[in-house]
Amino acid sequence: MKTAVYRAEKKVEVADIPKPSVQKPTDALVKVTLAGVCGSDLHIYEGRIPGCEGWGMGHEFVGVVEDIGSEVRRFKKGDRVVSSFFVACGHCHYCVRGWFNQCVERGAFGYGEYFGALGGAQSEYVTVPLADHTLELIPDGMHDEQAIFVGDILATGFFAAERAEIKPGDTVAVIGAGPVGLMAIMSAQLFGPSRVFVVDFVDSRLEFAQGMGAIPINGKEVHAVEAIKNATGGFGVDRSIECVGVLEAIETAIQCVKGGGTISVVGIPNHSVGDFPYVDVWQRALTFRAGWCNVQAYMRPLLDLVAAGRLKPESIISHRMKLDEAEEAYRIFDARQATKIVLTP
Ligand SMILES: [Zn+2]
Ligand SMILES: [Zn+2]
Repeated sequence: MKTAVYRAEKKVEVADIPKPSVQKPTDALVKVTLAGVCGSDLHIYEGRIPGCEGWGMGHEFVGVVEDIGSEVRRFKKGDRVVSSFFVACGHCHYCVRGWFNQCVERGAFGYGEYFGALGGAQSEYVTVPLADHTLELIPDGMHDEQAIFVGDILATGFFAAERAEIKPGDTVAVIGAGPVGLMAIMSAQLFGPSRVFVVDFVDSRLEFAQGMGAIPINGKEVHAVEAIKNATGGFGVDRSIECVGVLEAIETAIQCVKGGGTISVVGIPNHSVGDFPYVDVWQRALTFRAGWCNVQAYMRPLLDLVAAGRLKPESIISHRMKLDEAEEAYRIFDARQATKIVLTP
């Protein structure tokens, strides 16, 4: 079968590898019908994650269950499913408390040996371990493009907005208008903010975000924190959501909120240490929250919101390509020439 394989920095190629199969009683084999190219795939593509050479890529996908192990209870052959980008057991110390992203058996698809040695989803087939707690059924009548982001970027955007504690009437700033930032804007609207600002450096991204109801601020042209303060009577916003993952963006997210505000960080930090403004956070009584998405807790309600027409995540898809074109897809996504790419095997 065909799969997108990481060879070396900025080198992805479509290769023929043996078709995977069910190995453990809790596995499901899924025939992939649509796979996303995600911003976090670029950490591998740009050579920042060790141990991925020769491994399949991709972790955002929907498909049809082709085979199941003897202990899989929630799914049967032929079911249409969306997957979380990581697997969780459902019964460890963390899973029973609802913190699936802390599961002692977690592992992510398409991250090679670095994170669980699972297969990549930009592929014709993928084996899904711990299937009962990793997959969700797609409701009848929902298209693949509507469901796919529930397992990654939409869940992350919603998680970010929910943890920002947005109350009706609040002002909000979203830092970063990439795919996760756009999902955060869309999700933030569900909590009733009066205004949502969005900060980015790229005009085309800002225009897209503006079309979703956000107020654009180009950080290349103005000082983002000053612009937000000027627009909010000198105070800043009530809540900020950071969706970039560079320390400068986290700094902007901290500085643009007013006293008593909340900062919610979901971007993967590009440095493991940095200066944290402890005294400023204490003086201004800020709440700082950070983390990668607890996807399994959100897939079901998000599918219901999409089915009800309250969220339209598929609206951000800019490029529909074939799995065979994965090499080109990575090139244009890495060059920021595409908002969001989906691949069909
Ligand atoms: Zn991702
Ligand atoms: Zn667990």
